[in-house]
This record gives sequence, structure tokens and C-alpha cells, in this order.
Amino acid sequence: MKILVINTGSSSLKYQLIDMVNETVLAKGLCDRIGIEGSFLKQSKGDADAIVIEKRLPDHKVAIQQVIEALTDREIGVISDMSEISAVGHRVVHGGEKFYKSVLIDKDVIKAIEECIDLAPLHNPPNIVGIEACKQIMPNTPMVAVFDTAFHQSMPKKAYMYSIPYRLYEKYGIRKYGFHGTSHEYIARRAAEMLGKAFEEVKLITCHLGNGSSVCAIDKGYAVDTSMGFTPLDGLAMGTRSGSIDPAIVTFLMEKEGLSTTQVNTLINKESGVLGISGISSDFRDLDKAANEGNDRAELALQIFAYRVKKYIGKYAAAMDGIDAVVFTAGIGENNPGIRKRTIGNMSYLGISIDDTKNNSTIGVEQDISTPEARTRVFVIPTNEELAIARKTKKVLDDNNY
Ligand code: ADP
Repeated sequence: MKILVINTGSSSLKYQLIDMVNETVLAKGLCDRIGIEGSFLKQSKGDADAIVIEKRLPDHKVAIQQVIEALTDREIGVISDMSEISAVGHRVVHGGEKFYKSVLIDKDVIKAIEECIDLAPLHNPPNIVGIEACKQIMPNTPMVAVFDTAFHQSMPKKAYMYSIPYRLYEKYGIRKYGFHGTSHEYIARRAAEMLGKAFEEVKLITCHLGNGSSVCAIDKGYAVDTSMGFTPLDGLAMGTRSGSIDPAIVTFLMEKEGLSTTQVNTLINKESGVLGISGISSDFRDLDKAANEGNDRAELALQIFAYRVKKYIGKYAAAMDGIDAVVFTAGIGENNPGIRKRTIGNMSYLGISIDDTKNNSTIGVEQDISTPEARTRVFVIPTNEELAIARKTKKVLDDNNY
């Protein structure tokens, strides 16, 4: 069984074709600058270097057509016919309160995803465009929607409600939804395997630390809290996002600086986080370099970032009355031993003790970085959202007797 995984953005479309027999990536690629001058498709098969093809991609439908052409191409392709694709798994960012698991896409599902547009105005519209384009090109291929928010739907009400008038939850759906759910669940299931226990037996804190970052508390197989909120702006300090701040700062700045809602939105989404603090970069490699060269504000940005992660681990350990493991993933979590050390280097009260040699040598690979005697394990587990989407797609097909 071969599954095509699609992740559609407003002007891009990433894809992977995965053979589910041995879970290997047959080909992966990207259509970029869709609807913009200079569009192209880039594809690689197996471990080969990517081949870039300049193509006019006026819209997502043409992009999908080109993806199918590239996948079935005699030279750069990996299948002989479109019919070899058993199903398409679509990443959908927001499923609101309607979706707590992946679903087979039909008209009602598309309508329900449309109803969540208010909650994710930048993400859900391109996701829907990607689904519609695939349906036109592959009308007989089953499609599955895998939601970023679904895993977090198990949170109890005390965790997801904000302390604002209840009617605003009823009127607008203002509550915590959480994001990166597919990634949190994927690494948590792997962590349970590494612990040699069932997913339903363990308490985990998963830290997805990338440009966007979030922490998730998982108690016996269920997400019980997470750091992102109504939007992906909440929680940790991120590359360019502020994370949690006193909400009064927003109205204060609007008044003092005469900012519009758009301007203040840009400030907290694009100009804040470690970029805003350091004034240098949102990329942790640049911050590490600058801090090593003595730049105080780069150093401060790293400290603030790690301190927030540390506090989330502390509060989620309290919420779950203890933990079995902490897991790090994504660009920073997988590749930055310094941030891991700053975050959990001094957490002996939780039974955490890391082996510095193991931590420092663990870059982009799976590893238990704890000392043998540590009561609470610390794992680095590379995330793989595409494989997670493909697995969920396969499960939906199996459950629906395809
Ligand atoms: P996104 O949320 O956009 O998917 P990533 O998960 O790629 O982001 O994370 C981006 C961050 O990860 C950057 O701050 C970058 O410094 C860091 N990062 C990514 N790859 C590496 C690497 N190979 N070595 C060190 N840091 C990395």
C-alpha cells in the first residue's frame, strides 16, 4: 500500500509518497511559489539528490497534477501509474472541537473544516484548496484528514477553558486547542516503546521545539494539557512569536504606540520571541554563535527560551503527579544539546539526570540521554509527521474496510 501525504500551504505544497509495507519514503518533494512568478517543483527519490523543475504552477490543482506527473515520470518517478496510490493523507491544521481523530474526507467533513476557518484563517483555507485539488485529479482515491488539533481534544475542560466570560466560549469557541498534535503523539508512542511499556501506562512530557514550539502533557495515552492555546501564539517563547505575555501588554502597546490590530498582531507573531529579545535572529544556530561570542542579548534569549520550557515541565509534572519521561523533538529539540542541558540539566528533584557525553553527541538521532540510574528518562526522538500522517491514513482505511 502506497500513501501520498500532502501538506498544503498558501503558496506551497509539500508531499511524500510512502510505501506502508516497510514504511519507506519512495519520493518526497515540494511545489513552491504556487500562483507566484518563479514557481517550481522539487523532488527526490530515495536518498538521491533533489531535482528541481521550473514549472508554471498557477494554482494548487496544477501543482497536484505536476506532482502526479513527477511521481509517474519515467526518469525521476517511482510509480508507473496514479492508481498505485492507495490513499491521500492531508495535514489539516484546525479541526476545532469537531474532530478528535483522523477521518475519511467527504462533503460533510470539508464543510466542517470550512467552519473552522475563523479559528485558523491562514491555514485551513489552503488545506481545503489542497483537498479539493486532489479530489479533482484523483476522484476515486480515498482521502483522509489528519488534524494538528485532534490529539489535544482529550484535554479536560479545566485545562482548555480560559478564565474569561463563558459566553465567549459558547459564541466563538474561544478555548485552548493546541497544535503539533500529530508530532506529540508520534514521539510519545515511540517513547512508550523505548520505556518498554504500553502507551496507556506512561506519563510523558513531550517538547516539540522548532520555529514554533509547544510542550504537551500526556497521561496514560491521553493529552491532558498543552502550551499552545486558542492559536499557536501561546506558551513558549518561539523563533518570532512572543508566547504567553500579560494580555494587558497588547492594549497598552496599541494605545502608547498607536498600533492597529494588524500591527500589534505582526509585532507579537513576527517580531517577538528570541528574535525580538536578541535583535539578531530567530534561528538558534545564530543565537548560539552570538552568545558564545559574548552577545548578552543572544544569551538572554537562550535563557528565557530554556527557562520557559523548564517551567512547563515542572507544571506538567505537578499536573500529572509525576512523569516517566521527558521527550525532545523538532529542529531545536533534536539538534541543540545546549538548550536541552539548559532546560533539564538541573532537575534532580524530578529524578532527571542526563549524561553530558550522550547529550552532546546526540544530534538528529534517537537516543536515551539519561544516566543509567535516572528515575525519569530523557529521550531525544526525531519527529516524523509525514509518517505519522501516513500511519493514521492507513488506520482510517483499515477501519473503513478499504
Ligand atoms: P519548523 O517549526 O519551521 O519546522 P524546525 O523544527 O526546523 O522549525 O526548527 C528550526 C530551529 O531548529 C532553528 O532555530 C534551528 O536553529 C534549529 N535547527 C534545525 N536544524 C538544525 C541542525 N541541524 N543543527 C542545529 N540546529 C538546527
